[in-house]
Amino acid sequence: MGTPFDAAGHARSVWNEIVEYIRNMHSPLVRQWFTELEPNELSSGVLTVRCSTSIQQQYLAIRCREVFNDAAQAVTGKLVSVNFICTSGANGNRVPNIYNDVILSPDYVFENFVVGSTNQLAYATCRAVIESPGRNYNPLFIHGSPGLGKTHLLQATCQEMLNRRPETRIVYVSCDNFINHFMTCVQAGGSLDQFRNIYRNAVDVLIIDDIHFLAGRNRTQDEFFHTFNALFQQGKQIILSSDSPPLEIPQIEERLVSRFGNGMVASVGKPCYETRFAIILKKAALRGINLPANVSELIATRFENNIRELEGAITKIQAYAMLNGGKYDLETANLALGDILGPSDRIVTIQQIIEAVTHFYSVKVSDLQGKRRPKSISMPRQICMYLARKRTRHSLQEIGGYFGGRDHTTVMHAIKTIEDYRKNDPSIARVLDQIEASLDNQAARNAVSNTPRNFSQA
Ligand code: ADP
Ligand code: MG
Repeated sequence: MGTPFDAAGHARSVWNEIVEYIRNMHSPLVRQWFTELEPNELSSGVLTVRCSTSIQQQYLAIRCREVFNDAAQAVTGKLVSVNFICTSGANGNRVPNIYNDVILSPDYVFENFVVGSTNQLAYATCRAVIESPGRNYNPLFIHGSPGLGKTHLLQATCQEMLNRRPETRIVYVSCDNFINHFMTCVQAGGSLDQFRNIYRNAVDVLIIDDIHFLAGRNRTQDEFFHTFNALFQQGKQIILSSDSPPLEIPQIEERLVSRFGNGMVASVGKPCYETRFAIILKKAALRGINLPANVSELIATRFENNIRELEGAITKIQAYAMLNGGKYDLETANLALGDILGPSDRIVTIQQIIEAVTHFYSVKVSDLQGKRRPKSISMPRQICMYLARKRTRHSLQEIGGYFGGRDHTTVMHAIKTIEDYRKNDPSIARVLDQIEASLDNQAARNAVSNTPRNFSQA
């Protein structure tokens, strides 16, 4: 029998080995905050680990249980399991959970949310709702395409409300589960009172994610309408998210559309280059990895539409880096992302971009590469830089060098300018579509002639 100190020391060393094992075998799962977890003891085949919040505890116990148990068995060679507990008094003890479907992620907090021009309003209104729930923005309706941060904002709002006022009764459900819960109660017969008690009486804040799934669900829509009214009349806060604005959700009753639009409607849009770059840094830091700037640039340039894709790219690179002795360099990143880019890779040379742009705008190559900057040239030049970043593997520095020795901030500015034009000016969007279509043809030809995809292309 060892002393208590030995026991604690033993638990810690086993725990460290487990985390190291997971870092090697399942690197994308590892988070910086794992280091805050406290292994307590290892006895009777159970390693008890203390979490500082119940949200961490629930997340680990439900989302990561198997991985931790497998790791515990691998490193001890025995039938050891890991039990996560939480006993702290102060912070975030109440996990809002009625239907037991939404597992809050410790990642989805405001600290980890990068604010940019396209999500600024949604972010600010969430903050305002936390300050005075049920007052100013009721309902709060957040909409945007998938992968742009709606769930992250909803969960962050929920977690922050619980931090501020742990007694708040929050019901946070996905729309699917709201529907299922309702249908189950209907089918069971007679248990609607219980359902209504949960959603209308025992609640201070109702959060429903992906409310557009109510489309075509007439009976649930009717129930939700009454739920909404009951809560609204009591001054309870309602927060909803949807992949389209109220008016564009198909097959939804008009009276609901008008309720949705009555409070605050805020959108989340595609983030610009700088925001994407900042998000990549944030995500990498959360995972405890250090991505060199050129790798972050590569990801930020390649994935424009969906933040989930940015994360997917980091995960891929992480997996390759683990195979590659933990090296996070451009070569690893290119290898990792190779198959995401599609068969012909859509990759072209800078030369081909310049040809396409000069052809379109009737400007001279020497002008594009020169120092002069009249408007007639600066726009095509900026388009070249934007396309070079999007369609070649060159770094910002290299591209700047190519176009008259400009520095990387100038290239970043060019990318942002053209991205903005592409979003806001349909005539320029059409020009870019045309140029890109001609580049697609080039890329297909490159693929056929088997041009090696590497840096020596330009
Ligand atoms: P949605 O619910 O709109 O489909 P999510 O909230 O699930 O999107 O976001 C997808 C991923 O992108 C999540 O991992 C989320 O953390 C991340 N994400 C989205 N927006 C941001 C942001 N502004 N800052 C940091 N991460 C973000
Ligand atoms: Mg979502």
